[in-house]
Amino acid sequence: MSATRRDFLKQFMAFGALLLVPGSTVGGMGRSRAAANADSWRPGYALLEEKGVLADRVEQAYALFENCELCPRRCGVNRRKGETGICRATEQLMVYSRQPHFGEELPLVGNRGSGTIFFSNCNLRCVFCQNWPIAHEGRGREVSDEQLADMMIDLQNMGCHNINLVTPTHVMPNILNATRIALEKGLRLPLCYNTGGYERTECIRMLDGIVDIYLPDLKFMDPEEAERYAGAADDYPEKAKAAIIEMHRQVGDAVVEPRGTATRGLMVRHLVMPNRVAGTQDFVRWVAENLSADTYVNIMSQYRVEHRAFEYPEIARAITPEEFVEAIGWAKDTGIENLDRRSLSQYEAMKRRMTAS
Ligand code: SF4
Repeated sequence: MSATRRDFLKQFMAFGALLLVPGSTVGGMGRSRAAANADSWRPGYALLEEKGVLADRVEQAYALFENCELCPRRCGVNRRKGETGICRATEQLMVYSRQPHFGEELPLVGNRGSGTIFFSNCNLRCVFCQNWPIAHEGRGREVSDEQLADMMIDLQNMGCHNINLVTPTHVMPNILNATRIALEKGLRLPLCYNTGGYERTECIRMLDGIVDIYLPDLKFMDPEEAERYAGAADDYPEKAKAAIIEMHRQVGDAVVEPRGTATRGLMVRHLVMPNRVAGTQDFVRWVAENLSADTYVNIMSQYRVEHRAFEYPEIARAITPEEFVEAIGWAKDTGIENLDRRSLSQYEAMKRRMTAS
């Protein structure tokens, strides 16, 4: 999880419950500007509704709650009856906060922010989780699918460029239902599926034509590292890679509008960790060989020792400038051209500092 999310968490801790009140606003964005923003965009889910298939997708997704196989954990619990699996979520949706967010990638932020909705609980449960109070402890409050739809509309009315769904995997059915409700109320923004990457390809296929922007992490490339740090998910690399290939098949490389915001496409994140445990060199090679050299890649430097990371000596420190410069250097060597601009700026600054010292 990036430091931008960490900043985001701090903001939300401060703003608290106000942000969860549908109809409340942050900022002062006028409805007229939001309407103008929405008018020019035709999201995939609107087209699917016109074809009469969106309702079927919602129904199919909700059926997955009964013997939950929404993610590779395949717990088999009946969440409709209140049972819980590894993610600790029932069918009842929980949201921690929603707000225009300016710390995400620049093509998502634009000049009016990314409309971020932060879901409680998580199916991955990393030992170094940067948002552990929300992801592990499940902080947040219960909201109905109708209320989630209202949050989407509020974010649109604030002028946000997209609906950024953070940690969506375990609540995908609620999201689809809420999107359909929000569409009726005038939602016209692209959906951004901001996932830790531990996905079933079958479930990602259910999002085909609904999600316009995919923003997955690819955290680990080695099953043993994933088993150790990502909630014993030793199949994480295999599942995440397969899911990302499916995402890329659906939406292709990121499309950035002349004004600088993304309306469609894949953007991949990777957090550099101490002592190369994230497998960054393998990550950039895999992207170059399996996606495209034009893939938007954000190699992030913001690792912090959080949650239980202090129990693992090899990751109980921040990364060094040398480790980050090495990581970006590997990406450049593979020919990846569409690297995140903020990461590149950090890289240049770190390199200058290392040369000067
Ligand atoms: S979404 Fe939750 S309950 Fe369902 S399979 Fe994944 S971890 Fe288990």
